[in-house]
Amino acid sequence: MWCRLAFILTFLQLSTASDMDNPIIIIGSGLSGFAAARRLMDNDINNIVILEAENRIGGRINSVRFSDGIIDLGAQWVHGQKNNLIYEMTRNNFDFGTTPFEEMYSTFVLTNGTKTDQKDIRKIVDVAYKIIDDIDDLEDPQGSIGETFNKKFDKALKSSKLKNIEPSVIELMKENIERNYNGYTASNSWYDLSAKKNSEEGKASGNQYLTWKKQGFKTFFNFLTKKAPNPAQYLNIESKVQLNKKVTNIKYNTKDETSNVAVTCSDGSSYSAKHVIFTPSLGVLKKYHESLFSPALPQQKILAIKNYGFGTVGKVFLEFEHPFWLEQGKPFLAYEFLWLEQDKKEAKSTNREWMINITGIYVVDQFPNLLEVFLGGSNLNEFETFSDSKITEDCMWLLEKSLSKSLPKPKAMTRTKWLTNDNFLGAYSYGSMDAEKANIGPKDIAESILNADESPILLFAGEATDEKYPSMAHGAVRSGFRAADEIVKFYE
Ligand SMILES: Cc1cc2nc3c(=O)[nH]c(=O)nc-3n(C[C@H](O)[C@H](O)[C@H](O)COP(=O)(O)OP(=O)(O)OC[C@H]3O[C@@H](n4cnc5c(N)ncnc54)[C@H](O)[C@@H]3O)c2cc1C
Repeated sequence: MWCRLAFILTFLQLSTASDMDNPIIIIGSGLSGFAAARRLMDNDINNIVILEAENRIGGRINSVRFSDGIIDLGAQWVHGQKNNLIYEMTRNNFDFGTTPFEEMYSTFVLTNGTKTDQKDIRKIVDVAYKIIDDIDDLEDPQGSIGETFNKKFDKALKSSKLKNIEPSVIELMKENIERNYNGYTASNSWYDLSAKKNSEEGKASGNQYLTWKKQGFKTFFNFLTKKAPNPAQYLNIESKVQLNKKVTNIKYNTKDETSNVAVTCSDGSSYSAKHVIFTPSLGVLKKYHESLFSPALPQQKILAIKNYGFGTVGKVFLEFEHPFWLEQGKPFLAYEFLWLEQDKKEAKSTNREWMINITGIYVVDQFPNLLEVFLGGSNLNEFETFSDSKITEDCMWLLEKSLSKSLPKPKAMTRTKWLTNDNFLGAYSYGSMDAEKANIGPKDIAESILNADESPILLFAGEATDEKYPSMAHGAVRSGFRAADEIVKFYE
């Protein structure tokens, strides 16, 4: 306690003597950066500077105005309730919506527009998704998710339920299920997803698709800053943020306990801090760790940065005059596509290869006139470099071809570009086969760098550093709290 008091006093002195000389610097204003600031401020540590490369706060939370509400270009759903910090922090004061994410509400369409037997498809879906649920609970998982799935699915094929289904339909559905899995995990291939790493992660149980209705995920920042539920408790974390500050170098010295960490930005400005919390994505670390850190990071951390998976996903929102997809009284989730070989060829030869990665075109909770195209896997670089009008035309091409009718044109569209944005370089992390082989995980990416006096001078937060819920928004929040706690503890 005395130490904490001394620490707070030191801060107070610093704020009069050399105000900005020794703040705690947080790099990144996403969920983990804000969570770290919140925890520090809850402990009366207020001398904080948050350096953010973008011209906005939020990172991979990017809620934007579209149609008659706010939609999410980044994280959209709260995945799970029990043990999900985001849900726990908001549940009493926010009335969540939900997306009816039941595959049985999807309409599966062949890409050439011919009808397919939805009953057969449902049988495959039932068997396949039961296998996927079981994979999460395997005792001694080995190999990749793809291999594990195939083994179990091949066994299930012999069961009477799937025996009489056309093998070609089964193959098309298998591809569809892999696409969906890749979309969920942001991996290029489920043969690159480690079943062991998957089993090491936690899963918050309960509804996996809670939505922020028309208000967007950014609503949660009000809870992080305590603006909600009681504005009187508001912590003005926003005022700590300096936008358009791209950090290019972080110089640290572990041998001399008196020396500070020096942080330099691309505009030439520099900062000095006793503690730095680094939160940018694993994609940023992969590309820039050599130029960002002097001296180089420890070998084990580099091994983890190189081998843990980081992939991408994409979204397109299309607004229509009327919901042409709804049939009276019938629940609807999505159009999911079964790509026939000749249509894949056509897509490739007409510059539409990116479309083969679409997991589905979904309804959007509370927005009756919107459809959301979701895609994962490869070819997202192409998708991101194409113009909005080409993307819209391509989406309509696929819908009209598969539904075999002409459709009204969308009124408006918006879409994502996470992979080609230098401050993200992808969407989220995953437990890859390389990570399993190298025997590394989020814990190695998280490991703090300590000074000679054991003070954590360089700390790492962000979704990819959370052992339990990597990739997830609630993992990002947990990681920010963890990093801040390390600093707070040091002074206790
Ligand atoms: C399309 C998409 C959909 C998703 N869907 C979901 C979902 O439905 N549910 C869910 O739970 N999770 C989802 N996620 C994951 C979730 O968004 C992330 O786990 C979480 O937002 C990551 O927060 P973070 O603080 O770790 O990183 P970030 O939000 O990336 O924050 C890091 C910040 O650092 C900044 N930065 C980068 N480089 C520099 C630099 N050199 N100098 C200064 N600043 C820098 C960045 O601009 C960014 O603001 C989704 C992500 C994406 C992209």
